[in-house]
Amino acid sequence: MEKIDLRTDITIGEICEGFQYSESEEKGLFGWNGKLTIQPEYQRHYIYDNGKDDVAVIDSLLKGYPIGLIYFVETEDGRYEILDGQQRITSIGRYLTNWFAWIDSNGIPYKFRSLPEDLQEKIRTTKLTIYICKGEESEIKEWFKTINIAGKELKQQELLNAIYSGTFVTKAKEVFSNSHNSNLHKWLSYIKADVKRQGLLEVALEWVSRNWEKEGNLEKYMSEHRYDDNIAELNNYFNDVINWVSTVFIDVKDEMQTINWGKMYEMYHKNPYDAQQIHEKVTKLYNDIFVQNKKGIFEYVLGGCEDHKLLNVRIFDEPTKRAVYGKQTEEARNKGISNCPLCAVGNNSNKNKIWELREMDADHVTAWSKGGSTDISNCEMLCATHNRAKGNR
Ligand SMILES: [Zn+2]
Repeated sequence: MEKIDLRTDITIGEICEGFQYSESEEKGLFGWNGKLTIQPEYQRHYIYDNGKDDVAVIDSLLKGYPIGLIYFVETEDGRYEILDGQQRITSIGRYLTNWFAWIDSNGIPYKFRSLPEDLQEKIRTTKLTIYICKGEESEIKEWFKTINIAGKELKQQELLNAIYSGTFVTKAKEVFSNSHNSNLHKWLSYIKADVKRQGLLEVALEWVSRNWEKEGNLEKYMSEHRYDDNIAELNNYFNDVINWVSTVFIDVKDEMQTINWGKMYEMYHKNPYDAQQIHEKVTKLYNDIFVQNKKGIFEYVLGGCEDHKLLNVRIFDEPTKRAVYGKQTEEARNKGISNCPLCAVGNNSNKNKIWELREMDADHVTAWSKGGSTDISNCEMLCATHNRAKGNR
């Protein structure tokens, strides 16, 4: 059964006894004389090392302000892991081991060793408020979820890494959550993601699990592969997608980062493409002032340049429509025919109907896709029925 103890007697001095920080892994390793694992596998990287969040923690301590609740999990072997509070404890540990400076109100920086003795003592003797949780794995995960909801500290993928912690997540993080990975630069030109906070891993998992087809696929995938001893499928699929994109599209554009390439790959990778032709089409569309949705260009081109809706081509503005309507209607009245040119050549009761402006829509005389521009010289007003019929062709 679950059990939670509140401890208010443990000091910062004790917790930071034997504090170890790994610069290469960017994480706090151990504290409390080796009894405490500061960054278990399911925790995210240390992100407070920005001269702001870390300094703020020290500032709170020196002012005697509370730094919030801390949660430890007691493990089977009587050791402890940080469930919540990793960022704060790593900051304190780093400060006590002189990794960064706190700045006083006069702007003078103080590393711990240069602080006046009484302030050093004040930090060392500060007592933390720590909840120590002991329970089954499932319960610990439930707490983790609860704390997460309360604290809004973790990203979704960080939480999933916690829930499905195991060999698979460990190996996946070595590749997709590794700031020293030499492929990162290339990958991040096609993906917008916060690597440290598991954003890249999330994308890789979304792709391989086809999470875009059905939400929940990613979680299912993690659960099924939790104890796998390799990540070959994840790795290969991710690289297949990236290699496909970078082969089909010669240029790298900013908008590419917003596209679900996993989905594009599934939809189009079996089609043959001529990269040079694709390049020319993309360049032309990028320079087309009527194309309002640049990120739609890639799917448009992959799909054979048919679905104009993807481009959100600029439409005629109201003054243009009114001017064209006025001119067409006046001419039609003089001739006794309909002001919709297509109705006028027809043979039904609408052939001399004068439509209201609100009953008509603007249409490109020469289609945009055939080089027609979106200005008054290429605008005609059609009744709604004929405009729809033309649009569907
Ligand atoms: Zn008509």
